[in-house]
Amino acid sequence: MPLKTPVQYVDSLRELKIRAYVNGERVDSVADHPAIAPHINTVAKTYELAHAPEHRDVMTVESHMTGERVHRYTHIFQSADDLVKKIQMLRLLGQTTGTCFQRCVGLDALNALYAITYDIDQGEGSDYHQRFRAYLAQVQKADLMLAGAMTDPKGHRALRPSQQEDPDQFVRVVERREDGVVIRGAKLHNTGGINSHGILVMPGTGLKEEERDYAVACAVPADAAGVLFIFGRQSNDSRKLEGGCDIGNPRFGVVGGEAMVVFDDVFVPNERVFMNGETGYAATLVNYFATWHRANYGGCKGGNADVLIGATAKMTKVLGTERNAVVRDKLIEMIHMNETTYASAIGASAMGYPLLCGAYMVEPMMANTVKQNITRNVYEIGRVSHDLSGGFLATMPGEKSFDNPEIARFVEKYHQANPEYETRERVKLGRYIENMTSVTTMVEAIHGAGSPQAQRIVMLGLAEIDKKIAMADQVIDGDDDVEGLPLPERRVDK
Ligand SMILES: Cc1cc2nc3c(=O)[nH]c(=O)nc-3n(C[C@H](O)[C@H](O)[C@H](O)COP(=O)(O)OP(=O)(O)OC[C@H]3O[C@@H](n4cnc5c(N)ncnc54)[C@H](O)[C@@H]3O)c2cc1C
Repeated sequence: MPLKTPVQYVDSLRELKIRAYVNGERVDSVADHPAIAPHINTVAKTYELAHAPEHRDVMTVESHMTGERVHRYTHIFQSADDLVKKIQMLRLLGQTTGTCFQRCVGLDALNALYAITYDIDQGEGSDYHQRFRAYLAQVQKADLMLAGAMTDPKGHRALRPSQQEDPDQFVRVVERREDGVVIRGAKLHNTGGINSHGILVMPGTGLKEEERDYAVACAVPADAAGVLFIFGRQSNDSRKLEGGCDIGNPRFGVVGGEAMVVFDDVFVPNERVFMNGETGYAATLVNYFATWHRANYGGCKGGNADVLIGATAKMTKVLGTERNAVVRDKLIEMIHMNETTYASAIGASAMGYPLLCGAYMVEPMMANTVKQNITRNVYEIGRVSHDLSGGFLATMPGEKSFDNPEIARFVEKYHQANPEYETRERVKLGRYIENMTSVTTMVEAIHGAGSPQAQRIVMLGLAEIDKKIAMADQVIDGDDDVEGLPLPERRVDK
């Protein structure tokens, strides 16, 4: 069965010679670096749960190409039920890790490339789709962890790719050879790339005909010559080097360990190139990817919020406030916001429909609404958590204070609330809440899968406002009374 174990995943990373930099320094082995380790653990959990009999139905699925049982993270959505199961998988993983588990970008990129290669072939008579299917078969067989790279640096935001002073602000083809292409540029904010087996590169915007060189989609091994990762800094990340509970989520980290990935003239052989100059399909590819990806947030953030709500509810017990009606009402508020986004993600999935290639697309209005709500609800849920947890969240002493006999008793004594709970337990909970509501987490909720404005533009485009106006006109002034029941005459003749 093509399902990697967690150990096989980490060992396979060790075999790759990934060129990575953390805080300015070259890393010998990404699999063994403490700044990256929590993010690797999170991905390892996605491999582990696929072997658990109780999660088999959610974590694994029959490949539509080979009939073999494969990881759902390498699967092409074949039905609305598949889309629903994906959201369930994300919630499960969010609940298990309490953070971002990184593989969703690669999954949605696989599906988007599956669909766009089919469309290009239909329109242009090319053979990208077969090529992509051959690649996908290898991905499924080896159960690869893939990252998706769509966001370009973009330079001056008011200018198109071809208008930039520096043409490398968007990834582009700098050389076309008989056996492949050479690409140059960078992709930013890349989730999981640094601990992945490979990166799926896609254009980040719609393109004009003259922007042919920017219309490139391809798969690049994480250790290909010319690829390098520059790891981002996160809130409180030096705590990872200290160990202990101050990290907040010591085993699984905060968000996905994002990095800038640079393509410093990287050769990509033809069999890994899935778009090469077909500018007319770039916007559709972005749209496919973004629509699938936006629905995800109701699942993954739903699972994360379950953990945060749990930590906050426990904090109210630690403080002794848990029976207060107002406190309970605030917990209800958190639950309500969380279930609203989860329900929309399930709805978008349940109303999925087949694309021409056979892959199932989520309902786009609901998918965009999920992400739009996430840009607010994650902040609101965090705000209520901060409210209920108290000012201690921002001022509590570090874990090492418990080890210094000169001050430990004061820390223990004056930070203890309900004596049923040890002070250290309160600190651990506080640290989790602090880190999981840090700017790193919040900004992911705002910008991941596109900034809020990106969803609003799509929502307005899909809303068919004219139809809604016609509905209003018909209801207010229309004459289609209920059959057999004409509107009673109402006159106020006074
Ligand atoms: C934690 C995290 C993980 C991510 N993971 C991935 C990943 O794995 N893969 C990936 O491809 N991307 C990833 N992203 C990137 C994400 O999709 C982008 O951050 C998002 O699309 C916004 O782009 P930007 O950050 O360049 O924002 P900017 O373009 O800098 O936008 C900033 C603001 O300016 C506005 N703006 C931009 N251009 C214009 C304009 N022309 N006119 C008016 N307003 C404008 C935007 O709407 C926004 O409000 C991730 C982001 C985060 C934060």
